[in-house]
Amino acid sequence: MVKKRKLAIGAIVFAAVFFLAYRFFLSPQKLYEIEAFGIMDTDVSIKAYGRNAESALDEAIWEMKRIDQLFSAFSPDSYVSKINEAAGIAPVEVPPEVFSVIERAVYFSEITGGSFDPTILPVMTLWGFGTAKKSKPSREKLLKTMELVDYRKIELDFEKSTVYLKKAGMGLDLGAIVKGYAVDKMHDVLKARGIESFLINAGGNVYAGGKKPDGTLWRVAVTDPLDPSGYLGVIEAQDISLVSSGDYQRYFEEGGVRYHHIIDPGTGYPASVCVGTTVILPSSKDADALSTSFFVLGPDRSADLAKLFPGIGVIFVETGGNVATYGIVDNFQFK
Ligand code: AMP
Ligand code: MG
Repeated sequence: MVKKRKLAIGAIVFAAVFFLAYRFFLSPQKLYEIEAFGIMDTDVSIKAYGRNAESALDEAIWEMKRIDQLFSAFSPDSYVSKINEAAGIAPVEVPPEVFSVIERAVYFSEITGGSFDPTILPVMTLWGFGTAKKSKPSREKLLKTMELVDYRKIELDFEKSTVYLKKAGMGLDLGAIVKGYAVDKMHDVLKARGIESFLINAGGNVYAGGKKPDGTLWRVAVTDPLDPSGYLGVIEAQDISLVSSGDYQRYFEEGGVRYHHIIDPGTGYPASVCVGTTVILPSSKDADALSTSFFVLGPDRSADLAKLFPGIGVIFVETGGNVATYGIVDNFQFK
């Protein structure tokens, strides 16, 4: 009798241990996915493997929303809106996080000689980007508005953590860098929750974290700017960000001409050398700023700049369709 009971308890213990071992060590990890729409004017999707993945994905989406509220030029309560409202009036104190992103944006303005310029907002607004009514402005209005675009008139006070736009009417638009920053922060949230295998895609800003549980790499398709429903090629990626800028992402057409959302601060018109750029770097924030910068500069004027970022990979699709690459794009397979 006692022996039988011992046997039964032994069997239950064995089953419980086996169940736990299977659950935690042996079972194939489940893939969790989340999608959210309209954050930072884009859609975001995250895939992840791992035990805490489901709640970690929710947290990552909240992180993106939090960052949007800090930086959106369209939300009246954001720090960026406060800075813009106080242009020509007074410096605005901002949290260290906001200060550091603006400081990085100014850094990219400096190293690109102003081809990247986060004070582009008044010109974006004149073209109607961010509004329902987009149209080509008159040359006179454009020239007048261009007087408000100058990153050298952003005054940063490191001691007081303040940002000041020196001329009334100026406005910050961090749309070319902040999505990348958000992807970096979502990456941090997932890592802090012990998620090692994930793929974030926030409207062309991608981060591939780790490998899939079966040991294979994430495969990331790069959109073909000349046929955005298709792709140019695929990159096998691990612990790296891939950020694309393109004339197909936001645009309107007038008189048979496409006017898109990446403005050449030298002219006030949409940049015309490239139709698409993709930058591969560990930092999504830097890759974001650079994809926009390289888009404006084109391959010939970008080489010296790219040298500042060892390990970088860049794919340019020039207007007309020529594809040029720079740096490490070995694992990019053209279609
Ligand atoms: P992206 O899609 O990252 O290339 O960024 C494009 C967005 O950045 C636009 O929607 C504008 O908000 C802003 N932008 C446009 N032109 C520039 C520029 N030359 N420098 C910095 N930001 C820009
Ligand atoms: Mg960008």
